[in-house]
Amino acid sequence: MAEPSPAPPNFIRDIIAEDVKSSQHGGRVQTRFPPEPNGYLHIGHAKAICLDFGLADEFGGHTNLRFDDTNPEKEDVEYVESIKADVQWLGFQWDGLFYASDYFDQLYEWAIKLIKEGKAYVDDLSAEEIRQHRGTLTQPGKESPYRNRSVEENLNLFERMRTGEFPDGSRVLRAKIDMASPNLNMRDPVMYRILHAEHHRTGNKWCIYPMYDFAHGQSDSLEKITHSMCTLEFADHQPLYNWFIEQLGIFPSRQIEFDRLSLTYTMMSKRKLRLLVEEGRVKGWDDPRMPTLSGMRRRGYTPEAIRNFVTAAGVSRTNGIVELAMLEHFVREDLNKRALRVMAVLKPLKVIIDNYPENKVEEMDAVNNPEDASAGTRKVPFSRVLYIEQDDFREDPPKGYFRLSPGREVRLRYGYFITAKSVVKNDRGEVVEVHCTYDPATRGGNAPDGRKVKSTIHWVSVAHAVDAEVRIYETLFSKENPDEVGPGQDFTANLNPNSLEVIANAKIEPSLAKAAVGSRYQFERLGYFCVDPDSKPGKAVFSRTVALKDTWAKVEKKQGGSS
Ligand code: ATP
Ligand code: MG
Repeated sequence: MAEPSPAPPNFIRDIIAEDVKSSQHGGRVQTRFPPEPNGYLHIGHAKAICLDFGLADEFGGHTNLRFDDTNPEKEDVEYVESIKADVQWLGFQWDGLFYASDYFDQLYEWAIKLIKEGKAYVDDLSAEEIRQHRGTLTQPGKESPYRNRSVEENLNLFERMRTGEFPDGSRVLRAKIDMASPNLNMRDPVMYRILHAEHHRTGNKWCIYPMYDFAHGQSDSLEKITHSMCTLEFADHQPLYNWFIEQLGIFPSRQIEFDRLSLTYTMMSKRKLRLLVEEGRVKGWDDPRMPTLSGMRRRGYTPEAIRNFVTAAGVSRTNGIVELAMLEHFVREDLNKRALRVMAVLKPLKVIIDNYPENKVEEMDAVNNPEDASAGTRKVPFSRVLYIEQDDFREDPPKGYFRLSPGREVRLRYGYFITAKSVVKNDRGEVVEVHCTYDPATRGGNAPDGRKVKSTIHWVSVAHAVDAEVRIYETLFSKENPDEVGPGQDFTANLNPNSLEVIANAKIEPSLAKAAVGSRYQFERLGYFCVDPDSKPGKAVFSRTVALKDTWAKVEKKQGGSS
């Protein structure tokens, strides 16, 4: 095993280390991962998960999984279940499992307390009027005419909001803070809204629901979270997060913001991903082209690769964009260590070895993984008629083409040297058979006289080949930034029409006939592939996880070289 590389700098780790050293909260570290169950987790969430769970682990702390379920209309148990499965697949196990809805009673009591202390009021302004009163970054807001209601009137109206007397949107409960605050979030933020909607856990018990800002900090506090990590867009909410905690005099959780992960050619808004699913633009949340963890799992990405990528991408206090090629680099690096090598021909062309005995079959020894001796070897059947890739033969080879062509000798991987002699064409003039001869002295791939060939090509014996469907993916979006659109367009205008290519008649070596769903292989010379759940007996379906060519390694080398 290689030495684990030293942990890259991480300002959140430094904050936690400092707190532990100074015995804040007795040196205790408690974090949480707080997804809203309104969609499937994506690679951006993986970053938050690795920070929340990873940092707690480093300091012997604990991590809760908390569903931030305060928007009943968009949430569903399907999402709750998928989120749990994805967190575990990534390799993490939560200590406590909570729901913000567990705290609805407590939050309601706290709202009453704030009303009694003159720190909250019921406002009859409409959402639009509240927006107009809010002011701007350069102009202070205007106080609502309902701001100075008596405590009794506020208690009475809030109670009637709860019992369902008023329609949606007719009233809200607001915190009474400061309409002139330079921070817009402090201008009497809404704490509760009326929503006659069934909740996936509390049913119809409530028709008022707390806003994110009135739920998140208090939920953290109730769970005695010491370090509450979230993405940078919440930085402006931190004063409000602290304000509620201070007014209520409850456990002082601390919010720490970090940069949101963005990837080129990738969309990471759950709302937009859901649109792609609902409109049938992809086959589902786990479509291998999706940036969801379930899509990446189906595509063959490993949890280790994702964790290594997230660690290498690092954390900072400013948002940036990471190259998709970097993620693919980590996928390749991990699969290189663990994937078994096999031979598969995606676009088959028949090769007939005229001087090889008919009906003879040899079992060739093949290495399963040159990176891992313990993976052993296997036998691959060799016979007179083989498939090779169409791309590995040219009747008129261009300059620099060293694969098979008339008169040229090449090596068949684990087989023999063969030389192309003649071709058979169909009536469209396409080559459909290449006739070759082989040199029996080159079995295993070396000539006793030491002569060299310039290329080695893969093959599958026709009589032993198994049929497979192979799905090749390109990026789901054709623009680096999928949100960059022309007037009147939305992000779907940037969907890549060629993101999926289906190869219906690939030929794979017989050892793959019973490959289990989810197994990952390297098809020699082609890339990494994973068995898809759509596979049926007799017809395996493979997804290409990633091609072999590593563009990121090159970029990195260049960067390393110039610095
Ligand atoms: P989306 O806009 O995709 O719905 P969200 O932030 O609303 O994202 P949540 O379910 O609320 O999604 O997120 C749970 C946690 O994951 C939050 O702490 C959030 O900050 C974090 N998170 C979400 N997206 C990213 C991202 N791209 N990079 C890093 N962390 C993220
Ligand atoms: Mg959200």
